[in-house]
Amino acid sequence: MNDSTVLDAPAGGGPVGPPPDRVDVIRKSILAKLTYVVGKNPATASERDWFIATAHAVRDHMVDPWIASSRATYAEGRKRVYYLSLEFLIGRLLFDTLGNLGLTDTVRSALGDLGVDLDKLRTVEPDAALGNGGLGRLAACFIESMATLSIPAYGYGIRYDHGLFRQVIKGGWQQEYPEDWLSFGYPWQFERPEVTYDIAFGGSVEAVAWPGGATRYVWHPAETIEAVAYDTPVVGWRGRHVNTLRLWSARAMDPLRLDAFNQGDHVGALVEQVKAEAISKVLYPSDATPAGQELRLRQEYFFASASLQDLIYRHTRTYGDIRSLPDKVAIQLNDTHPAIAVAELMRILVDLKDISWDEAWDITRRTFAYTNHTLMPEALETWPVPLMERMLPRHMQIIYLINAYHLEAVRKDFPQDPDSFLSSVSIIEENHGRRVKMGHLAFIGSHSVNGVSALHSDLMKVTVFRDLHRLHPERINNKTNGITFRRWLYQSNPGLTRALVDICGPRVLDDPAALGALADRATEAAVQQRLEQIKHDNKIALARLIRDRMETRVNPSALFDVQIKRIHEYKRQLLNILETIALYQAMRAQPHRDWAPRVKIFAGKAAASYHIAKLTIKLANDVAAVVNSDPMVRDLLKVVFMPNYNVSLAETIIPAADLSEQISTAGMEASGTGNMKLALNGALTIGTLDGANVEIRDHVGDDNIFIFGLTTDQVAETRARGNWAEAAIGNSPLLSDVLAAIEGGFFSPGEKDRFRDLTGNLRYHDHFLVTADFDSYFAAQRRVDAKWADKRAWWASSAINTAKVGWFSSDRTIAEYARDIWDVPVRPIA
Ligand SMILES: *Cc1c(COP(=O)(O)O)cnc(C)c1O
Repeated sequence: MNDSTVLDAPAGGGPVGPPPDRVDVIRKSILAKLTYVVGKNPATASERDWFIATAHAVRDHMVDPWIASSRATYAEGRKRVYYLSLEFLIGRLLFDTLGNLGLTDTVRSALGDLGVDLDKLRTVEPDAALGNGGLGRLAACFIESMATLSIPAYGYGIRYDHGLFRQVIKGGWQQEYPEDWLSFGYPWQFERPEVTYDIAFGGSVEAVAWPGGATRYVWHPAETIEAVAYDTPVVGWRGRHVNTLRLWSARAMDPLRLDAFNQGDHVGALVEQVKAEAISKVLYPSDATPAGQELRLRQEYFFASASLQDLIYRHTRTYGDIRSLPDKVAIQLNDTHPAIAVAELMRILVDLKDISWDEAWDITRRTFAYTNHTLMPEALETWPVPLMERMLPRHMQIIYLINAYHLEAVRKDFPQDPDSFLSSVSIIEENHGRRVKMGHLAFIGSHSVNGVSALHSDLMKVTVFRDLHRLHPERINNKTNGITFRRWLYQSNPGLTRALVDICGPRVLDDPAALGALADRATEAAVQQRLEQIKHDNKIALARLIRDRMETRVNPSALFDVQIKRIHEYKRQLLNILETIALYQAMRAQPHRDWAPRVKIFAGKAAASYHIAKLTIKLANDVAAVVNSDPMVRDLLKVVFMPNYNVSLAETIIPAADLSEQISTAGMEASGTGNMKLALNGALTIGTLDGANVEIRDHVGDDNIFIFGLTTDQVAETRARGNWAEAAIGNSPLLSDVLAAIEGGFFSPGEKDRFRDLTGNLRYHDHFLVTADFDSYFAAQRRVDAKWADKRAWWASSAINTAKVGWFSSDRTIAEYARDIWDVPVRPIA
């Protein structure tokens, strides 16, 4: 991970080492920070002290461009984008910031002069995990791309004291421990104690007669807490523009009730503080399942309200008139988590700014846009009406009124349609206890509703939003996800980056389309050898980590077969484990065949309450224990489950992957972004025609990807027919043997029943069609083996994967949002 000179070169290239005077300035600055910010001297400073000092010194370099970016936005009256997301899976920021500022080598030299190793400091930084998985990582990639494209933007979210839990594997089981990313301070952020907003909850609504016969509604809340801002500057590539990630922390208005305290009630004196601050205490640890608790709704309203108050304050201070909001502001709702903002903006406009309902509705709809992330009915957010009435009584009234006008228009435009159509497009669910459908509220309150891959956007029109789509056929559009190449290529894979600069020219750093030049040379022996060597070096680094962390030895020359993502039934880690067992049994049956050596690498967290997912982790670990200690397969097969998957671990695994497992049940993965990261780094994909896999196939071509399994339509047909598991198992001797081994206790000696819930699910339920896809998957894996045996073919495919996935840059995605949804200009780098 050394020598990132190419990354520090100015746009247009030319190898330039860091100028000595610049190194000198940075060295002095780091020393000054160590002394005056950290309060230590170099002789006794720990690595953490050095990290804090370095981060502060680097942060200084963002402040002037940050202020300049803000000034220019004001001066030019530019439209701003606000990205509201309950999750930001940020990861570490040191190399991100250094790389984008072009300071990596300068800081490396400066620290070297001080006897400090920059690469060691890198691992000291906590991994900020204010998100669960793909959705939160997308938000993090997007704010970086918005800065890169010089779009004036804020990311708004919650500053959780505790991010996603730390995963420890004990005896093969997942255990959850709290994550403490703030415990040693967070040098990137600026606390803004003066930027606070009141957030109200509960109470009642009073109807007040107004002169002229109108009625006004006055909310008398029962409880008010404060949102305090913390700002992290986000610098774009080449340091041209700096945006702000503003995260809200909750604080009690009256932290200590002195009267109670003085009467000796020391605990009671603090209850308000504890209740208020619970809001930003912890991230809800779920992924693709709803977190239906009351505290979650409090979080959603808390951050939506604080963000709206903040942006409206900024807007009215600049432009005076709230009516110009849609011309100067675009708000993107990342999933339905911030959807309550639709009702909150209506409340602010109608109740506080005295704007008529119709005009307020027009302003609201022109300002908001909504991104949908899931089609799974069980994952769509709904809130019970009684809870909403109790916690947000005025918002509930407003939602009723939005719905009344909406249904009135539907009746007028579609008079012949049955009541079932009305109830399907209604914001209120009447069937299973009355609930508010947040997806419907977001859809109706926005001018744009987008899916995150072509397939997903098409499916939205025929599933969750089928009827709303009939009402508003223009509204649904597609914005296929992307990833920031700065993190997922330049920082995580400097060796490959250097090769790409050599092969495609330095322009490749600014324009991913330039990667295409690699395709023309994909069959050149020298190019292939270089790619193979880079991958091998990355695999050695990963093998070391596996040895150090897990005391397992893996062969870097084996095929590294990687499935890293949240553990979820629809992502089908189980399918991969079953195939692993089948391969293991085949190897034992014929130990002397010319098997392609493989290392199966798994990583991912299961939601703490998700029994089946946790049992899947246990099975992976039990299979690993048996396989890894079996002398019969020795170096041919190894299985590792790497604990505590997070952004930093992803950055180490991805550059070392040969094969990328993207094997979700077709129709269930909205897009995926792990698939893009892995393909960019030269892994070949084995996958279903799901999410963005479809578009990856379109870009790399059928010969450079291993597609298997049922399509979306076939999944629907199979489910409609029913009873597929029995047939699939009956027709597959391989699968029967695998299930028999698990059920016979082969991987759980002394506890045959350990995996009964997994195997029982497969035999009698199998909602995710693992059994139906098993044989097709096994066959696809054998095609992988065949290609792996033909090294030239493999490395040509690998090169083509890297060459052809430039389109999946989040810069492309963000430029599409800017053009089609936000109506803001972008300033491309190249
Ligand atoms: C990219 C990423 C994800 C999303 O992975 P998928 O394979 O798309 O589900 C989740 N977690 C982390 C840490 C990531 O970097």
